[in-house]
Amino acid sequence: MIKARVESSFATRALAEAVASILAKGDLILLVGDLGAGKTTFTQGLGKGLGIEDQITSPTFVLLRTYDADLPLHHVDVYRLEHLQEVIDLGLMEMLDDGGVAVVEWGDLATPVLPRDFLEIRLGFDDTAGDDVRIVSLNGVGSKWSQREEAIALAIEEWTQ
Ligand code: ADP
Ligand code: MG
Repeated sequence: MIKARVESSFATRALAEAVASILAKGDLILLVGDLGAGKTTFTQGLGKGLGIEDQITSPTFVLLRTYDADLPLHHVDVYRLEHLQEVIDLGLMEMLDDGGVAVVEWGDLATPVLPRDFLEIRLGFDDTAGDDVRIVSLNGVGSKWSQREEAIALAIEEWTQ
């Protein structure tokens, strides 16, 4: 588990951009954290890092939005999900097999129907600090990610310790 600290939404985007630099096709990121924690903000930074110029917004009412790039980004938000079957129906597995990367907001709600290898990124408020501070915990789950934590730590060194 890697812990980072960011002090503004700018810093969260920059951190995410750095995470994007180590992504490869088929990667799945689960974003965890309360409303307003910065999951969509983080996704915007990921998009920038992947070379996506379109503005990334919350996909809350559509569940899934795909942004085209060399590594296409599939952005999912399962907050309003009623049945896990809806996630299965999205065909996310197939999209990952086709060479994209996926980021799922509230991903912890859908782990039973998602691949077992993923990078979990948890965004939390810091009650002892200002409103704009977030603690970001990154945890590689599954064999695919266990060897990659070092590369992630290196990429986001600026925000860790
Ligand atoms: P979520 O998708 O988790 O509900 P959003 O990214 O939509 O959260 O919203 C986060 C809100 O908090 C935005 O209004 C953003 O400007 C603000 N904010 C303040 N500081 C930060 C920070 N360090 N990282 C991310 N967002 C921040
Ligand atoms: Mg959001």
